[in-house]
Amino acid sequence: MNCEILCVGTELLLGNTVNTNAADLSDMLSGLGVNVFWHTVVGDNPGRLAEAVAIAKGRADLIITTGGLGPTYDDLTKNVLAECFGRKMEYHPEEGEFLKAWFAKNTSIQFTQNNLQQAWLPERCTVFHNDWGTAPGCAFQEGGVHVIMLPGPPNECVPMFRHCAVPYIKSLAGETIFSHQIRVFGMGESAVEDRLRSRMERMENPTLATYAKVGEVMLRVTAKASDEAQAEAMCAPVVDMVKAELGHVVYGVDVDSLEALCLGLLKEKGLTFATAESLTGGLIGARFTALPGASAVYKGGAVTYCNEVKAGMLTIDRDMIEEKGAVSYETAAAMAKGARLAAGADLAVSATGLAGPDGDGVHPVGTVFVGLADKDNVWVRQLRLGTRRQRVRALAANHAFDMLRRYLQGLPIEEI
Ligand code: ATP
Ligand code: MG
Repeated sequence: MNCEILCVGTELLLGNTVNTNAADLSDMLSGLGVNVFWHTVVGDNPGRLAEAVAIAKGRADLIITTGGLGPTYDDLTKNVLAECFGRKMEYHPEEGEFLKAWFAKNTSIQFTQNNLQQAWLPERCTVFHNDWGTAPGCAFQEGGVHVIMLPGPPNECVPMFRHCAVPYIKSLAGETIFSHQIRVFGMGESAVEDRLRSRMERMENPTLATYAKVGEVMLRVTAKASDEAQAEAMCAPVVDMVKAELGHVVYGVDVDSLEALCLGLLKEKGLTFATAESLTGGLIGARFTALPGASAVYKGGAVTYCNEVKAGMLTIDRDMIEEKGAVSYETAAAMAKGARLAAGADLAVSATGLAGPDGDGVHPVGTVFVGLADKDNVWVRQLRLGTRRQRVRALAANHAFDMLRRYLQGLPIEEI
């Protein structure tokens, strides 16, 4: 099935709003085995929207629109789409009653009649009730083209896609699509492809595809079958093959991130950890504490940017830092050990390095040492992470979590 995502909104064209809906829907559609071949953005203009729909009709089997379902004069998506597909508009009383009740319950704003515009949808459509806002979405099929309309606000669009559009799309396919995401850290996308390309090219069902993420690679295995159990059984050997081929760089299957994996492993093993951060300035701690439930295993962290603070807060010998340098194997090791003791944690990670744009006269920009300490040992990775400041910092944090997860998974820790 070939899909076009058509996002409606002048704010998207002006650059005021980033088109996250297109990215989020594409990501979820690829998981369903739907090919997204076009992203189109059009302003709140009926003529240009009609032109865009005419083009999309001629090339896609599935058109998904986002935006323009609300009650204001510039919300014109439903009317234009209905006209382009030769359908009249139809009032849905149950949606009208819902809107009136929603206003009475959720706001003190006076209900105005234009709000009922949201209860008008193209005739003979499947209504997608909006449990996250007010404007319903809908779906219909005309002349072999399927149309799905979703609201613009991402906190409505994304859950409605998941809960309403996904079952609809699956029912169209007449088969179940099942996928696994294999997460890889420590090997670039081209190296991953190089190892797997010949097999990937031969595969039809299931399929295997690679996607580059910031500092990591995601592989998606997708199978189509008559039921989910069968599709899952078809995916399993491919997941095993990828794990066997890539080895320890595969950090998880269907996990959200390195830090999410670490959280689960730390909880499972009943261990706590702490952080000592220089170039990352708290990024490691911030990423970890963004996860619900982090408090069960994270004791705390120190942002120790200058030498005096490293020495003072982490009880490190000042002369050693002067002698070896703040960016050194020894300092990273001492930071991890010091943080572990200061926080009373089982484990601690540390990061010190040169995020750029300048080097320190000894090391080139991008040189980073990441440490991990437990009660008896300390491990340090020496890295060169490029020259882009934010990327160097993000990758340093990834390495800290990677060392932690390797420790927890019983794998070699310094190896990358
Ligand atoms: P509403 O009922 O809120 O008016 P709507 O379906 O009419 O919903 P729009 O008016 O088009 O949607 O957009 C509402 C808001 O949603 C926009 O101001 C914008 O901030 C956000 N938005 C719209 N489209 C997108 C998009 N493609 N990506 C990210 N955000 C978007
Ligand atoms: Mg609107």
